[in-house]
Amino acid sequence: MSTRQSGPRPVRAPRGSTLSCKGWVQEAALRMLHNNLDAEVAERPDDLVVYGGTGKAARSWEAFDVIVRELQDLADDETLLVQSGKAVGRFRTHPDAPRVLIANSNLVGRWANWDEFRKLEQLGLTMYGQMTAGSWIYIGTQGILQGTYETFVAARKAHEARSGRPGGRWVLTAGLGGMGGAQPLAATMAGMSCLAVEIDPHRIERRLETRYVDQRIDDLGKALAAIEAAVEKNQPTSIAICGNAADIFPELVRRGVVPDLVTEQTAAHDPLIGYIPEGLSLAEAAALRASNPKEYVTRAKRSMRLEVEAMLEMAQCGSEVFDYGNNIRTCAQEAGCERAFDIPGFVPAYIRELFCQGKGPFRWVALSGDPEDILATDRAVLEAVPNDPDLARWIKLAGERVKFQGLPARICWLGYGDRAKVGLVFNELVRQGKVKAPIVIGRDHLDCGSVASPFRETEAMKDGSDAIADWAILNALANTAGGASWVSFHHGGGVGIGNSLHAGMVIVADGTDAAARRLERVLTIDPGMGVIRHADAGYETAVHVAEEKGVRVPHRMK
Ligand code: NAD
Repeated sequence: MSTRQSGPRPVRAPRGSTLSCKGWVQEAALRMLHNNLDAEVAERPDDLVVYGGTGKAARSWEAFDVIVRELQDLADDETLLVQSGKAVGRFRTHPDAPRVLIANSNLVGRWANWDEFRKLEQLGLTMYGQMTAGSWIYIGTQGILQGTYETFVAARKAHEARSGRPGGRWVLTAGLGGMGGAQPLAATMAGMSCLAVEIDPHRIERRLETRYVDQRIDDLGKALAAIEAAVEKNQPTSIAICGNAADIFPELVRRGVVPDLVTEQTAAHDPLIGYIPEGLSLAEAAALRASNPKEYVTRAKRSMRLEVEAMLEMAQCGSEVFDYGNNIRTCAQEAGCERAFDIPGFVPAYIRELFCQGKGPFRWVALSGDPEDILATDRAVLEAVPNDPDLARWIKLAGERVKFQGLPARICWLGYGDRAKVGLVFNELVRQGKVKAPIVIGRDHLDCGSVASPFRETEAMKDGSDAIADWAILNALANTAGGASWVSFHHGGGVGIGNSLHAGMVIVADGTDAAARRLERVLTIDPGMGVIRHADAGYETAVHVAEEKGVRVPHRMK
């Protein structure tokens, strides 16, 4: 065990091409763990919280130190086991096995609720891993930017189709945290203005600094006038307003305001930590949370009901309204809003068709720390996948408008076939010295074949298989068998404890032949899981993709 006194301190990933571990895969895990906790990247690094309510990278600072020590000593044929943010064992395996296997926040079904989780967390036995927080592949707010952009574009199209006129001029939303902070920039990139309600001025400050939001206007009348002017001039702008969504959304209804698109991304999945009840300042909320957590949760859910009822009113008046994957509908329903689920979830509404093609959030990070390396990978992606105008537009916009947080990184949604192709191209860039250090490739757990989450990714599956979690487990096992660099299996990400099970994977392109073989296998298996999962559920697109690309789905073979 570590003998030094562990505690909060600034953390930053090493840069450059010098190793402090025994191999690049271990080094990648070490750098990505540090990067998750970099003050530029994490929302509350002192508490080891990366994003998404209390999504943590390590259980405690002492646990962080031990993981670092183990990674630095880990051989090329060993595997480190991490249980909810704590290194618990190390075994000899083989060079193609993952160097790290991670299990976060998992509980047996009957015990899978927030009360039990918090009790065990208090005892120091577990931590909340969210999705990419505990699996060490968070890349800051960019990580959700393209997904948000695609979602907003699809929602605008749906709005136009429904209303029969050009729409999608502006978006109303709430929550400017680690993930929610992507919304204003995604809206303006998609050509829409955005009004985003955020209760915490520091979060607004951070989004202004990183250029994710254009301006802050706290007077509602003035903010609406600015939105109106931007819409009229067709010059999209994004405005943060400091306030409580449970106050401002109903006030907009009272004023008869009908936004084109309405959603929200507070951390409602965790009603004790992630949502501030209306009528309380941040300090008052913190005091109530500590003194009477039960009362806090009741008030938070009551406020969520007010917010969701306002969203339903706006839908009635013609807004395109959708739930953005934080489980607010369940909490609102528990507080008495019977029609909460009249609001559709964003996955069945806009994303499932992409999942059927094995498409999802492919991301990568330049371990050198040099932004030039990402520019080289941007060019390489466009060469490898040349006939995709949406991808080309995205890479160009991201290059112009995304400010890196921590190690330079990029995200783009790629499907089955293209992910493996791009992985191999990156490995060649490393081999040929066209980038200065290896590239680490990963993804969100929110992906086509890696998650069981009936309020989000697997809501309203065609065959009713929403709560079947075998797929997520098969994903982790198959990626492990394929030789991913680290593999994780989590519970409760996105929508909270009791509501989801999901797997993550990361793979390192270090320029070697062995890495090329692993990349080809893993980046085929992983999106292939999305194709087979959706083909099995009876989605025609997935069946077609499987036939066309030769993905074997035994029960669908002719
Ligand atoms: P976060 O904890 O970093 O931020 C939440 C933000 O909401 C904070 O800034 C907080 O101040 C603000 N907030 C809380 N209550 C508020 C209120 N009443 N009014 C206005 N603002 C309020 O969380 P995050 O990383 O941004 O994630 C947000 C949610 O999205 C989480 O529930 C997360 O699980 C979910 N999520 C969604 C996706 C997706 O693809 N849609 C992906 C990952 C996470």
